[in-house]
Amino acid sequence: MTVKVAINGYGTIGKRVADAVMKQDDMTISGVVKRRPSFEAFDAVKNGFKFFTTTQEFVSGFQEVGIQPQGTLTDLLAESDIVIDCTPKKQGYKQLYEEHGVKAIWQGGEKHDLTGLSFNSFSNYEDNLGKDYSRVVSCNTTGLCRTLWPLQQEFGIENVLGVMIRRGADPWDSKTGPINAIKPVLKVPSHHGPDVQTVMYGLPIQTTAVAVPSTLMHLHSVVVKLQKPASADTVIGLWDKTSRILFVEGSKGITSTAQIMEYAKDTGYKRSDLMEIAVWKDGVHVVDNTLYYYQAIHQESDVVPENIDCIRALCNTEPDKWKSIEKTNQALGLK
Ligand code: NAD
Repeated sequence: MTVKVAINGYGTIGKRVADAVMKQDDMTISGVVKRRPSFEAFDAVKNGFKFFTTTQEFVSGFQEVGIQPQGTLTDLLAESDIVIDCTPKKQGYKQLYEEHGVKAIWQGGEKHDLTGLSFNSFSNYEDNLGKDYSRVVSCNTTGLCRTLWPLQQEFGIENVLGVMIRRGADPWDSKTGPINAIKPVLKVPSHHGPDVQTVMYGLPIQTTAVAVPSTLMHLHSVVVKLQKPASADTVIGLWDKTSRILFVEGSKGITSTAQIMEYAKDTGYKRSDLMEIAVWKDGVHVVDNTLYYYQAIHQESDVVPENIDCIRALCNTEPDKWKSIEKTNQALGLK
């Protein structure tokens, strides 16, 4: 079966998920939806995607710039098995998807309550099998799960403290900030810890967060109290066997997120994306069963493989999570 996937919201995440879907042999893009014209709308048309707008009232806006939408979101839903909602949070499309009997996946900007079910490939793929609605957790949460889940399986986790040093805005975003300030999230825990618990049930985790004037990546400083003895080498060996984690090394000149993104440009993923989580190998330390490490998250792309796996889980086209992960990795060229 080839799953027909609609993308509602062709922006930062939507365009990346669309490209990733087209690289799989068991799914295809039935069409993409934008509400207002932008350079991304022209790109979608150039890329050969069937192009739709949200409702009839937005059609003329596209016609004025020379794009003829092939219909509206409602038309697209009629020809799709599942919709990936990549619109900004709280756009309120759930009822429409329900009315059209189309499965749906939301992104991390939405609250878990919207679906009552969230998704991470490693930690709860099976719980999503055959379900109608789910939410791929945020870029930061996905990053935390990628490294914490294997630790939990191998050593057990007594507790986690994660400090999220968050990029102020995406690189294209000229409106958001901070530009010249460091801005703490005054609520503790920040939303990231509870978000991890929506897919790693019951994990004792606390998080705090600070936004900084950088656009490239998020950085996490993570402290994990392990239940079983471990060393830096055994932890590195474990992550080395785990997919979607990439080691970087300060001793080889990668001392900040700037060099990681330069490395991503050199290694050649489209848009210089880095879908793997970058962990500093020489920043992994264990002192008295407590593990300390740093990881960097390419916020615009790390959730893309999870969206692909989530499509397979909801559509029940691959019941085995490891087979889906392997298939996605192969198609996207990931470790
Ligand atoms: P974006 O602003 O880059 O893209 C959103 C797209 O949706 C735009 O093309 C916009 O024109 C379109 N849109 C806006 N309102 C719409 C509506 N009512 N109907 C249809 N389309 C509409 O946003 P994004 O960064 O791709 O974020 C999308 C979701 O992904 C959010 O939940 C966000 O929290 C989440 N997310 C974002 C990032 C990130 O770093 N950008 C990372 C992980 C998850």
